Amino acid sequence: MKNKGMLIVYTGCSGVGKGTIMKELLPRNPNLRLSVSATTRAPRAGEVDGREYYFVTPERFDEMIAEGAFLEYAKYAGGSYGTPKEPVFRMLDEGYDVILEIEVKGFLQVKQACPDCLTIFIAPPSFEELEARLRKRGTETEEKIAERLKIAEKELKSQDQFDHVVVNDIAQRAADEVLSIIAAEKNK
Ligand code: 5GP
Repeated sequence: MKNKGMLIVYTGCSGVGKGTIMKELLPRNPNLRLSVSATTRAPRAGEVDGREYYFVTPERFDEMIAEGAFLEYAKYAGGSYGTPKEPVFRMLDEGYDVILEIEVKGFLQVKQACPDCLTIFIAPPSFEELEARLRKRGTETEEKIAERLKIAEKELKSQDQFDHVVVNDIAQRAADEVLSIIAAEKNK
């Protein structure tokens, strides 16, 4: 697969602050585009269909799998999440660098399909801090928080498989680092 743009996998545990960093990245690099995933999980307050996610039924998600519509997909904490293939390839072909904000199982699939992609893992300063951030966000029940922390423990063990690990101590600083990594990769 030869594209004009660069494919970037951006991964990190739930609550680590990926979204906050992302809000800094997009306005500061006009050549970046964020892929909008499909999910079966319910929208959180303030989330808009087609902006944060395409919110679909489990039946529609299965249809999309059968249609071969996904570049990758995975189950996470009881929900299904997948990257629609067509818009990603279109944006790459148009010359944009495309970010996939996905979890570790999806990262492994993309790495297999597109070994040249740039992969970045956003890590918390500590596990305790991750737990505190997830609680502070207040979007999940205690049960869901516990489930997400259990997944996070596993995901943190995969960070060595990424090209770069960026610690999200301060979102602004972490965003600067991610932008430098992308710029350096473009100049290679
Ligand atoms: P959340 O429910 O907090 O929005 O997302 C849960 C996890 O699913 C996060 O780690 C997020 O990065 C990941 N995720 C979001 N979209 C996708 C996707 O299309 N594919 C995969 N594999 N993971 C995704």
